[in-house]
Amino acid sequence: MTSKDLLSRAAELMPGGVSSPVRAFKAVGGVPPFIASASGCTMTDVDGNTYIDYIGSWGPMILGHTHPDVTAALEAAVRKGTSFGAPSPLEAEMAQEIVDRVPSVEMVRFVNSGTEATMSAIRLARAATKRDVILKFAGGYHGHADSFLIQAGSGVATFGAPDSPGVTPGAAKDTRVARFDDLESVRTILEQDKGHVAAIIVEPVPGNMGVTRFDDGFLPGLRALCDEHGALLIFDEVMTGFRVHRGCASSLFGVTPDLSTFGKVIGGGLPVGAYGGRADLMRMISPSGPVYQAGTLSGNPLAMTAGLATLRGLTENVYAQLETQSAKLQAGLEDALREAVVTGVVQRVGSMLTLFFHDGPVRNFDDAKACDHDRFAAFFGGMLERGVHLPPSGYEAWFVSAAHDDTAINKTVSAAREVLRGL
Ligand SMILES: *Cc1c(COP(=O)(O)O)cnc(C)c1O
Repeated sequence: MTSKDLLSRAAELMPGGVSSPVRAFKAVGGVPPFIASASGCTMTDVDGNTYIDYIGSWGPMILGHTHPDVTAALEAAVRKGTSFGAPSPLEAEMAQEIVDRVPSVEMVRFVNSGTEATMSAIRLARAATKRDVILKFAGGYHGHADSFLIQAGSGVATFGAPDSPGVTPGAAKDTRVARFDDLESVRTILEQDKGHVAAIIVEPVPGNMGVTRFDDGFLPGLRALCDEHGALLIFDEVMTGFRVHRGCASSLFGVTPDLSTFGKVIGGGLPVGAYGGRADLMRMISPSGPVYQAGTLSGNPLAMTAGLATLRGLTENVYAQLETQSAKLQAGLEDALREAVVTGVVQRVGSMLTLFFHDGPVRNFDDAKACDHDRFAAFFGGMLERGVHLPPSGYEAWFVSAAHDDTAINKTVSAAREVLRGL
């Protein structure tokens, strides 16, 4: 069966034929390639096309697909049992790996997705502060829990539905939305809701409205405002964690959050999330403390194995290589934009990058929405035809992996040059 056949069959059985909305290509048009296999920096579809992949499963495949170490570790683990529902040695090993790398994290709890991590982290923040209100940023995505589905960027923005039906006014009433890179908008809310804000949750490098630029003072400013108002600072590092730096964004920017959430990279392509931070807060989690949170498959041995192999593969050399290759890609795309005289900007932090069809920097959700998304759709289609699979929305980060060698980067830049010239 071709991708087209598979999509029409799947669409009869599953909403949009997909398991997560952006995969359906609604923002860019056309039929999404159904993937048969992936290796290194490429994915191959059922129609026999091979693409250079910049989705990277939305971040987890930082070492590249089917990395030999990860595959070998999984093959060995699968023979020892796929789930126990009882403690296993792997969990503490994985926790140690995280605690060693991230100075602000003293203890962690494993869950199964980024969504679970953020919803559990705000439960803990609310319990610890005995306050109800959560402050997030327009365009910030923190998974699909009710309290976060308010101006949530990415898939939500792609469908022009900033609020989802089914989110009750009760669930939404304790969420406030500030403007990213605008400390005054944060201060205003903290003053209006004085004594009620439990936590500020922020993507320390926004990736879910595209990689957003911000002032050096913004994250330290959030820390100071939290301290002034007795609110906790939560860094949602589900995307940035172990991608932008060995010690996550908190280490890259030298700002210490109270709690952090993880996912994506720490699962190495298997379903994992985690939240962690100050030990005094984490000890409030059940069974040490009263804040309930549980999971049948949490700390799953296969997921821990893939995550451990991935973290161990992320050496200083690999981070240096990710930086070099990503910088080459950025420079190549910038040259291609200039040559084609197309208005656009490439914004990057480490191996996360977005090409925005925008005049000048993109600093917040309004800027991201003001980009030429029709032009992005045309660009996306041209790149796909030339064997480069970008994330299928102009609100997304592209993910460079350790397997993106010079050949892949050069091929991507040549394709971009051709496509941009024809726009
Ligand atoms: C992907 C993502 C989530 C949600 O993680 P899932 O595993 O998809 O539930 C939350 N926060 C951020 C910043 C993300 O990028």
